[in-house]
Amino acid sequence: DSTVAAFETTIRRRKTRPVPVGNITIGGGHPVVVQSMINEDTMDVEGSVAGIRRLHEIGCEIVRVTVPSMAHAKSLAQIKQKLRETYQDVPLVADVHHNGMKIALEVAKHVDKVRINPGLYVFEKPKSDRNEYTEQEFQDIGTKIRQTLEPLVISLRDQNKAMRIGVNHGSLAERMLFTYGDTPEGMVESALEFIKICESLEFYNLVISLKASRVPVMLAAYRLMVHRMDELGMDYPLHLGVTEAGDGEYGRIKSTAGIGTLLADGIGDTLRVSLTEAPEKEIPVCYSILQALGLRKTMVEYVACPSCGRTLFNLEDVLREVREATHHLTGLDIAVMGCIVNGPGEMADADYGYVGKQPGFISLYRGREEIKKVPEDQGVAELINLIKADGRWMDP
Ligand code: SF4
Repeated sequence: DSTVAAFETTIRRRKTRPVPVGNITIGGGHPVVVQSMINEDTMDVEGSVAGIRRLHEIGCEIVRVTVPSMAHAKSLAQIKQKLRETYQDVPLVADVHHNGMKIALEVAKHVDKVRINPGLYVFEKPKSDRNEYTEQEFQDIGTKIRQTLEPLVISLRDQNKAMRIGVNHGSLAERMLFTYGDTPEGMVESALEFIKICESLEFYNLVISLKASRVPVMLAAYRLMVHRMDELGMDYPLHLGVTEAGDGEYGRIKSTAGIGTLLADGIGDTLRVSLTEAPEKEIPVCYSILQALGLRKTMVEYVACPSCGRTLFNLEDVLREVREATHHLTGLDIAVMGCIVNGPGEMADADYGYVGKQPGFISLYRGREEIKKVPEDQGVAELINLIKADGRWMDP
């Protein structure tokens, strides 16, 4: 019932089928999976292993690598082997950038998932106008796509591995452009064409993405995809992302606007935040989006007031001190509030509260209960003591 759903405070996720990617599962009610991509050259085995490990250690659950040539595909065999020997079997996705099926077939032996881009399945120089194609020629392209894709689909199916059909707004196939224009509809139909080929070969380990660099386009494409999949009885998980989001604050906000909006509607099973920064910078953004929406809890949730004329201490400094002392305590909610006038009531059911009581003094709360008043300079230490007394402390 949509009226009830509109007032729910937990997100009801769209039901999707589980798709295995190594030891991780995308969809099927599993937590939304965090992904990123290394920027080392795949030919550099040592560098790639180090890059993958670095990302995995900070929470990147599936790591993507690029495979522009056959040599790169073969190099991945060594990368995977070395990871197993020196670290662990990190789930890997290979990005295959064109219709070089030999490369895809080679790489499918070494990784857990292959990402293909339907827009790059171009076999000859595309014509400039739909009218230049005869109906037969137009259909022949569809047949060629099918023939090219088939061996990869069969290989992945037989190994129980996964495929991402990753449509990009910026690289839509000419055929789709002629038929649907440069639209979300064209993106969706492009994905559906590939899905149908996979289904005809009884391969269902599919994850779909429809990225665009403009948020409204990306939102429309994913929403239309869900609508079309519902109509067709398909339940493939979706990989969310805003491409070329840029860097810094705006890159993060743009990614959050796109990814967060869909996740809030229950859409999306895995995500990548694409920043023009080191890939390590993407991971905390992914987890922050998921935590803010209540989809995953991987860090302390800090509730803090913005401060105002009533604030009794330097909120920014205290919040930083509290964060430094407690950020490793996953699972807790800690509030830092400037005064007792509104503070206790607005702590949003935090587990602990640090609230300005009177000049020079703060009060510590457990839930809504005031535990003790202490001088401000002992506030952080006393907060830690309280958490310790409750048996909820862990050493960093
Ligand atoms: Fe101001 Fe108190 Fe509200 Fe903080 S909790 S913003 S100090 S009224």
